[in-house]
Amino acid sequence: MLDLFRKRRMWRPASKLKGAYDVVIIGGGSHGLATAHYLREHGITDVAILEKRYIGSGAAGRNTTILRSNYKTPEGARFYDASVKLYEGLSQELNFNLLFSQCGHLTLAHSDRAMFVMANRAEVNRLSGIDSRLIGPDEIQQLAPAMQVDNPNATFPIMGALYHPPGGIIRHDAVVWALARSADQGGAEIHQDTEVLGLERSGGRVSKVKTDRGTIAAGQVLNCTAGWSTLISDMAGVKLPITTHILQACVTEPFKPLLHVVVVSSQMHVYISQTDRGEFLMGAEIEPWTTYRMQGTLNFLQDVCRHSLELFPQLERARLLRSWAGLCDLSPDYSPILGQTEVENFHVSAGWGTYGFKAAPIVGKTLAELVATGRQPELIAPFALERFYEDRLVSELAAAAVSH
Ligand SMILES: Cc1cc2nc3c(=O)[nH]c(=O)nc-3n(C[C@H](O)[C@H](O)[C@H](O)COP(=O)(O)OP(=O)(O)OC[C@H]3O[C@@H](n4cnc5c(N)ncnc54)[C@H](O)[C@@H]3O)c2cc1C
Repeated sequence: MLDLFRKRRMWRPASKLKGAYDVVIIGGGSHGLATAHYLREHGITDVAILEKRYIGSGAAGRNTTILRSNYKTPEGARFYDASVKLYEGLSQELNFNLLFSQCGHLTLAHSDRAMFVMANRAEVNRLSGIDSRLIGPDEIQQLAPAMQVDNPNATFPIMGALYHPPGGIIRHDAVVWALARSADQGGAEIHQDTEVLGLERSGGRVSKVKTDRGTIAAGQVLNCTAGWSTLISDMAGVKLPITTHILQACVTEPFKPLLHVVVVSSQMHVYISQTDRGEFLMGAEIEPWTTYRMQGTLNFLQDVCRHSLELFPQLERARLLRSWAGLCDLSPDYSPILGQTEVENFHVSAGWGTYGFKAAPIVGKTLAELVATGRQPELIAPFALERFYEDRLVSELAAAAVSH
């Protein structure tokens, strides 16, 4: 019976921490687990993933699962496109149905200025080979028949939208579990309930990782803690220009399928999709104050419902089922901070704000390459920490944030 139970487990139960590992990954979210998964391709298997709670307990298990690549900068668009392409093959690669639905993504434009910005984004996207175009109200209505597109009393009339057909939604918990299973099968140890409390440095390197279960030596250390990334980087003496905020989301009770596309409005500060369970999933912008307290607010619920009802008045009598909050690590240019730092063997995946889940596979792949080769892969070079000292920002302001 015990054998049967063991066979059914998706990953091995926690063992004792060893005294040393080639690679220590801090954070058992989508980025840490994806990195462990892709380290297998380089034959690196002496890996520990240290997670202070349970895997997926951070933003990986709280996000609204929007995947897309229609970013504003060529660097961003190229990077996220590589990730969406990896997601397209991930169910097969991990032998796990991740329920990836490429249902399409609409970013609504409510002003002449927004139309101009969307047209510009579509051009940048197409130059990178990304399917993205500006469409008018008639086509929007065809894609989302249940949405109120032509409303003469609208506070924010819909003038057009940036339409991105490959965008869509996926099951976040499935992504987390499947990556964890693969990492475990490759030999990586997943240590849940293991909190990193400090990092010891010697000779310009991180030599030891102190946890609440003992101290371990590490060849290379990766900080994949998203909302908590500054706290871990501070332990290594690396300053990150990041502030941590909460982002909230909520779902209604389930309905029959009504909405087959993701709808986002930056101006209305709202985005909506319908999950595979039928719930209307609604989110907004980050809260402006910094905090590590993951508690929702009534203001969020009032605002998100008001804006959602402008688009979907038929939800007027829908009941909210649940709401939640998660942490977001925001960088000044709304782009990530990825790869090497001034501490030789200490690498980061941070600055993910509200948009990092879509990047998990490409983060894992490129960080694994960095660990294996010691070189920063070309795709993530624009996102190096030095850019803030060299005035080379990659501004995704307005294309990230509420657009997810
Ligand atoms: C409400 C919400 C909606 C979002 N919607 C989207 C979306 O639609 N699309 C999108 O692409 N992105 C979205 N995001 C952002 C996305 O979820 C994150 O950017 C991404 O998940 C971050 O990477 P991660 O999964 O590795 O982080 P996390 O899952 O947060 O992993 C970090 C882990 O580190 C652990 N940790 C922290 N400190 C320590 C320590 N001292 N020791 C050990 N472990 C530690 C934490 O417990 C946590 O599990 C959303 C986020 C939120 C909150």
